[in-house]
Amino acid sequence: HFMPLDARIYIAGHRGLVGSAIHRGLTAQGYTNILTRTRTELDLLDHEAVAKFFADEKPEYVFLAAAKVGGILANNTYPADFIRDNLTIQTNIIESSRDVDVTRLLFLGSSCIYPKMAPQPMPETCLLTGPLEPTNRPYALAKIAGIEMCWSYNRQYGTKYLAAMPTNLYGPGDNFDLKNSHVLPALIRKTAEAKAAGAKDITVWGTGTPRRELLYSDDLAEACIFLMNLDETKFGSLMNEDGPPLINIGTGEDVTIRELAEVVSKVLGFEGELVFDTTKPDGTPRKLMDVTRLHDLGWHHKVGLEEGIGRTWELAKTFL
Ligand code: GDP
Repeated sequence: HFMPLDARIYIAGHRGLVGSAIHRGLTAQGYTNILTRTRTELDLLDHEAVAKFFADEKPEYVFLAAAKVGGILANNTYPADFIRDNLTIQTNIIESSRDVDVTRLLFLGSSCIYPKMAPQPMPETCLLTGPLEPTNRPYALAKIAGIEMCWSYNRQYGTKYLAAMPTNLYGPGDNFDLKNSHVLPALIRKTAEAKAAGAKDITVWGTGTPRRELLYSDDLAEACIFLMNLDETKFGSLMNEDGPPLINIGTGEDVTIRELAEVVSKVLGFEGELVFDTTKPDGTPRKLMDVTRLHDLGWHHKVGLEEGIGRTWELAKTFL
C-alpha cells in the first residue's frame, strides 16, 4: 500500500456510480480517514467553498469522480451545462489540490474522449487524433481539458496527477430509467418487468450486433485504488512527459448487444424471446478499450458479466 490506511482521502462525487464504488472499496480495504461532502454541504462549482474545504481538511489523496453526467438525451439538451459544470468542478478541485500539496490525484473520465473513428481496441495514444462523437463533444472536451490540466500541472508544479478513463460501467446505483439509461440497466428493467408480467418477449433496441465492453463498478473502484497504491516507480512511469498521464480501465473484452440481452435473460430467469427494434439506433459499432497499459501493471478485472449482472439485479430488484 502506497496510501497508508489512515491517509486523508477525499472522494469527490462519492454518491455517484463511480464514487460510491470507490468508497465501498476503500472501506472494505480498511481505510479509516475517508472524506466526503454531499452537494448541499459543499458546492463543487463554488471555487471559494472548494478552496476552504481543502484548506480546512488537507486531503492527501483525491479521487476526482465528481462530474455532470448523462445519456445522449441530456447531453443534447444541456450542452452548455455539461461543458461549463465539468470544467468548473475539475478546475476547482485540481487547483485546490495543488494549493494544499495533495500527494496524488486520480481524475476520472470516460472512453468518449477518444475519436469517434478510433482504432479498436482504443489505446491511450489515440487521444486527439481525430474528430469526436458530436453528441457528447462538450462533455468530452471538458474531460480532455482535465487530462491536459493534470499533465500541465505535473510538468509545471511537479504534481502527481493521473487521469483514468473507464469503459462503460454498470453496477448498483445505476440509472434504471428506461428513456435515459444505458443499455444494461435498461435490459435488466425490461427483462424484470416482462418476467413479472408473464410476457413472452422483450424489445431490444437496434440490430443487436453492436459490441460493447462492460466493467462492473466495484472492479473499476478496485482498479482506481490499485493505481493510487502503485509504488513510486510504477506510478511515475505513467507520468511520462512524452504523453498525457493517461490510463484506460476496462476488461479488454466485449460482447454483442444480443449476447448481453441473453445473459440478462439467463440471470433473471426469463425464457421469452428477444425482439429487435431496428427503428432504434445502433450507435457506434464497437467501443473497446486497449487495456495493455493496465494489464502490464498487473491489474485484471475480476467480476464477469454474469456475476456482475447478478449482483446488480440482487440490489435492483428491491426497487424495480
Ligand atoms: P452507447 O454505448 O453510448 O451507444 O449507449 P447505450 O448504452 O445507450 O447503447 C448501447 C447499445 O445498446 C446501442 O446499440 C443500443 O441501440 C443498444 N440497446 C438495446 N436495447 C437498449 C435499451 O433498451 N436502452 C439503451 N439505452 N440501449 C439499448
